Amino acid sequence: MSIQAATEKMIPNMIGAEEVESTSRRRLSVTDPSTGEVLGHVPLSNSADLDAAVARGVKAQKEWGHLALKDRVQVMFHLKAIMEENADDLTALITRENGKTTGEARGELLRAIECVEFATSLPQIAAGPVMEVSRGVECKMLRYPLGVVAAITPFNFPLMVPLWMLPVALASGNAVILKPSEQTPLSAVELARLFEQAGLPPGLFSVVNGDREIVEAICDHPSISAIGFVGSTKVAKLVYERGSAHGKRVKALGGAKNHLVVVPDADPEMTAANVVASATGCAGQRCMAASVLIAVGDVDAILDKIKEKFRTMKAGRDIGSVISPGARDRIAGYIERCTSDGATLVVDGRKGIADDAPAGGNYIGPTVFDHAKPEHAVACEEIFGPTLTIIRCKTLEEAIAIENANPYGNAAAIYTSSGEVATHFAERASAGMIGINIGVPVPREPFPFGGWNDSSYGEGDLTGHGSFDFWTKSKKITTKWSERNRSNWMS
Ligand code: NAD
Repeated sequence: MSIQAATEKMIPNMIGAEEVESTSRRRLSVTDPSTGEVLGHVPLSNSADLDAAVARGVKAQKEWGHLALKDRVQVMFHLKAIMEENADDLTALITRENGKTTGEARGELLRAIECVEFATSLPQIAAGPVMEVSRGVECKMLRYPLGVVAAITPFNFPLMVPLWMLPVALASGNAVILKPSEQTPLSAVELARLFEQAGLPPGLFSVVNGDREIVEAICDHPSISAIGFVGSTKVAKLVYERGSAHGKRVKALGGAKNHLVVVPDADPEMTAANVVASATGCAGQRCMAASVLIAVGDVDAILDKIKEKFRTMKAGRDIGSVISPGARDRIAGYIERCTSDGATLVVDGRKGIADDAPAGGNYIGPTVFDHAKPEHAVACEEIFGPTLTIIRCKTLEEAIAIENANPYGNAAAIYTSSGEVATHFAERASAGMIGINIGVPVPREPFPFGGWNDSSYGEGDLTGHGSFDFWTKSKKITTKWSERNRSNWMS
């Protein structure tokens, strides 16, 4: 594989492995967030570009949808092998366009490969139910592709989040249009080349780059049957409402404000290391990142360890860059105003940048706010940076009430050595993904990923077991062959 040097070049739209020039004249520069270097220019496509990709998808899907599932998943076996062979190049590409560290990019790649691997197992989980529903009468359920579907993805996992959806959606017999984040289009474009190498017939997978205009065109397009969206809550809600209004099946995963509860019997070393990794990994740009720590009772010894670790870490050395100068300034804005809101700034990320971090990079260091109240901006808004906000309370019930009152519901976690406390919390937390002594409780396949409340709109799952249901429609076939059962009431 040769990942093309994109410097100063136009980043194409893709129909299969074919590079397609957008008819739009609107362009956006794509930069390496860790240096500021311009990597290329991405087209902000228009509805004519989308129409062309959808038309190719409609055509290609007809034959693809008729193949046996076992035949379709062969592409995913090949894709997995190709991704493993090219692991170093893909890791470098993720780092270059997203700014995360090499270790984090490799972790993203491994999770992406896991998603591809899950799709290879679809024939094992796809067997539908068959039952004799009445004497001599049998009912069975089969699954059929939806047709052309779309995936709209955020910047923070440019390879993994598309691969949450593409392998299952394609293996289910659909054609897929991917609209990646305009800030990180390179992995998506590369993915189109890799799918082609893996044997996916042309036209089944397209990348249409762009911004709001193309997202709205996807929501409105009469030939797109379903949309999987991953991004901020504001946009998730817009896409859910607009896509649903056009009769589409839409699952839209949104933003997060994850609460981690620490009680006095928590293991100090493990808890401190785990909380810090959760809050600072990927520079805090994860929808599963620790954002608020609720300290129950006297856990100061653990908090001191956490603060100490934050003080020793530097952006540009231990932590990657955030996606853009705008993101960095927005995070700095929270630091600026936290004290006037009434919280205490314990570790100031504006000072936590390594001396040798590249001058053009978007760096902001690890930050701790203490003694925050649930209503403070740092305690209730998604900051999406390497920050941790500490709220103090006296009892576990108070902590649960604080967690329950926050409008998001992606993840929540508790640190304790008591099974009873853990179970009590897990049952009452208002979130779709719960961690017990784990700060990034990502469910791995076949368990689906997804939250509750304002972190998720629409029914169904984009990953794991339920994703096969989401990307297909069912057909129920009722059969009576037996002559001896003519008297059956279903005759
Ligand atoms: P974003 O919502 O800004 O962008 C996501 C997608 O929506 C992009 O493709 C973008 O082009 C498009 N978009 C942006 N503004 C739009 C608008 N006004 N109208 C229509 N489309 C628009 O999100 P982001 O900044 O790229 O990613 C970070 C966000 O994604 C965070 O909120 C994070 O929590 C969330 N996220 C959630 C999950 C999850 O599984 N719940 C996973 C990853 C990221």
